[in-house]
Amino acid sequence: MISARELRKSYGKTEALRGVGFEVGHGELFGIIGPDGAGKTTLFRVLATLILADSGSARVDGLDVVADYEEIRKRIGYMPGRFSLYQDLTVEENLEFFATVFDVDVDANYGLISDIYERLAPFKNRRAGALSGGMKQKLALSCALIHKPTVLFLDEPTTGVDPVSRKEFWEMLKRLKAAGVTILVSTPYMDEAALCDRVALMQGGRFLDIDTPAGIVANYRHELWAIRARRMSRLLGDLRAQPETLSCFAFGDAHHLAAKPGALSPESLVRRLKSLGHEDVAVERLQPGIEDCFLDLSAADGRTR
Ligand code: ADP
Repeated sequence: MISARELRKSYGKTEALRGVGFEVGHGELFGIIGPDGAGKTTLFRVLATLILADSGSARVDGLDVVADYEEIRKRIGYMPGRFSLYQDLTVEENLEFFATVFDVDVDANYGLISDIYERLAPFKNRRAGALSGGMKQKLALSCALIHKPTVLFLDEPTTGVDPVSRKEFWEMLKRLKAAGVTILVSTPYMDEAALCDRVALMQGGRFLDIDTPAGIVANYRHELWAIRARRMSRLLGDLRAQPETLSCFAFGDAHHLAAKPGALSPESLVRRLKSLGHEDVAVERLQPGIEDCFLDLSAADGRTR
């Protein structure tokens, strides 16, 4: 449903896309996971036919993003990062407006959005500008779906939205996927990767890896350890200086240390840390998460540039 090859796009000296290629199958929920500035929005704009790439090619629902842009626009739903709502229009007026743009009837197309919109119905006369982040997000999604698109592009739909609304939002995406909609969604939240069928980890205008969330974690090449001690900030520096450390990052209440398989002996490390004056040292093996994989791939990418 979506395919891209060697997409490149620069803004002056900034290379926002540096050769991006991937394919998304029919009915797939595909995530683009990456921090601010990774190039996610630029990629979405190229695929949604809003800007032209400098080179490379892309197709959406079998159509070329340059030659067939008008037809693509009729078939896709696009929810930009800062939700594209008219703040002075009410909830109901926003929905009517988007339906008019696509020349469709709200009632006739209500089926696809009913379970999303019914949560908004009690607020249908409220101005969009006066809605909470979570409700804006639901309204923006309803507006992006009102013409029954075959492909949905959601650019950071959960950024700045409260955790409960984020969870509800992903539940809605699952139902849309079950209804046959192909979904490309971007997020800076690594924990949302697990909710996608497949993900691309993106940084610096490139994909570092494309796989299922389980596949990405299974490809992690090192042994990962969680290490705690009383003085965590001093511990980070001391851990980074140990010979078996490949990388070490602060992660919530523990530091995550990557080492070559078999290279780290917990007893020996604890002894050394104690001799450096650390107290209450704890060292445990850890299964990597998507964020560990991202940091590792990103460091490897940095070394090869
Ligand atoms: P993301 O959505 O992952 O945050 P973007 O695609 O918005 O990434 O940005 C990728 C890079 O391109 C960033 O360095 C950003 O500053 C730059 N960029 C994006 N849009 C423009 C623009 N219109 N003019 C100049 N630079 C831009």
